[in-house]
Amino acid sequence: MTLKGRVLSVASECVPLVKTGGLADVVGALPGALAPLGWEMRVLMPAYRALRARTADWAEVWREEGLWGGEGRVLLGRVEGLEVMLLDAPHLYDREGGPYAGPGGDWWDNAQRFAALSWVAAKIARVGTTDGWRPDVLHVHDWQAGLAPAYLAYGGSEGVGSVLTIHNIAFQGWAAASQLLDLRLPADQFYPGALEYYGGLSSLKAGLITCDRITTVSPTYAAELMRPEFGMGLQGVIATRASVVSGILNGVDTGVWSPEAEPVPYSAAAMQGKAANRAALCAEFGLEVPGPLAIIVSRLTDQKGIDLVPEVLPEFIEGGGGLVVLGSGDPKLEAAMRDLAARYPGRVGLRIGYDEAMSHRIFSGGDAVLVPSRFEPCGLTQMYGLRYGCLPVVAAVGGLADTVIHANPAALSAGVATGITFHPTDATAFATALRQLLALHAEPKLWSHVQRNAMKQDVSWASSAAEYAALYEGLLA
Ligand code: ADP
Repeated sequence: MTLKGRVLSVASECVPLVKTGGLADVVGALPGALAPLGWEMRVLMPAYRALRARTADWAEVWREEGLWGGEGRVLLGRVEGLEVMLLDAPHLYDREGGPYAGPGGDWWDNAQRFAALSWVAAKIARVGTTDGWRPDVLHVHDWQAGLAPAYLAYGGSEGVGSVLTIHNIAFQGWAAASQLLDLRLPADQFYPGALEYYGGLSSLKAGLITCDRITTVSPTYAAELMRPEFGMGLQGVIATRASVVSGILNGVDTGVWSPEAEPVPYSAAAMQGKAANRAALCAEFGLEVPGPLAIIVSRLTDQKGIDLVPEVLPEFIEGGGGLVVLGSGDPKLEAAMRDLAARYPGRVGLRIGYDEAMSHRIFSGGDAVLVPSRFEPCGLTQMYGLRYGCLPVVAAVGGLADTVIHANPAALSAGVATGITFHPTDATAFATALRQLLALHAEPKLWSHVQRNAMKQDVSWASSAAEYAALYEGLLA
């Protein structure tokens, strides 16, 4: 494969090193997905405590004095096939706790900690590392790396193109205006059309106004972000850059998420295993469900619309349905789920917690996955649902709208439906969708047809990687 170009990917988390959310999955998956297309990608991230222990072979490829109170070194190593560059700056990152917070809450100096990451990224983009590696494209993720395109642009980009990907607009990297100079930003750029953001600073906004391309993790979310209901204050900024904004869906690791790889395997061509998995799942939770067995695997938060479940469930249960919930989050919503499990023994199963192995059993055995989100940049569980023939019943927002084809009469007769969508995200529309689920399940031929369609969808990284590759190619000088 001839080398098309090199990409420096900059983020605060990356699988398999550190993960708090879907961002880490994407950052960890992209290098492997892009390599076959001729793109060489290195990931730059902070050396949080204990990360250096992940491999013995680190080579120093950069050194930076005066990095917000100490020295920083960039260490290059290979972790599970990934080329990683750790920014080793103990005064900023060698701390007890997670990437963003310690035992006492968010780190007080998060603005500086991630400014340092961005600063080093921009410098490496401009001149390359000491081992002679220089990127053609700087690809940064979310607010933590948002200042990197700004530093690159203000200091001279030397022909390096930049891409900023928004994984969740809710996090904007806010800082006080008084930090402008400490964050090494040009004072003459502090006005509303540039760095100023509601009287302060936002590293995400700084990135959005200075990068060459903006992407987010689904086409619908890209359009939604220009509207006040979804843009969370940044809608105007994004709208003014509409000509460089695009949405590229995340993929799923189809090696990990594959019904053929489950303990009782099945596939679109041989569905018997699914029935066995359903029976095992019912046995695990003590359920007996004559109709469709719905599942939820999710953070239990208002974003995910979990508060709507108690409103719509009684009618669904009466219609023969059942529900398995695996999740944790808001104590109020956890309590609401406990109430449902207590109220409908034999029909509602609940596990509060995070359990990846169990989530595989749930998708293998479930008939339909419910995702009633209020907003959803991309979403993964609806894609697992498609792969597993566990039909997605989803709110038509963000990536959910882009990945599920609603089983309306036209789609059914054309043979393209893959699930059920509803809009808006409220109890009335959700209840209607569940009624439709019951009706579809009552027609076995139609049901298995939709199930097979769902399982045939390509949710792998292949097509997304091709879109990123095309984007990078457009930035080559
Ligand atoms: P978000 O990143 O907003 O939480 P996504 O759907 O993009 O939502 O990704 C959530 C990921 O976390 C999925 O892989 C989902 O299976 C997983 N997940 C969420 N809650 C749990 C849980 N309680 N146990 C196991 N996996 C979970």
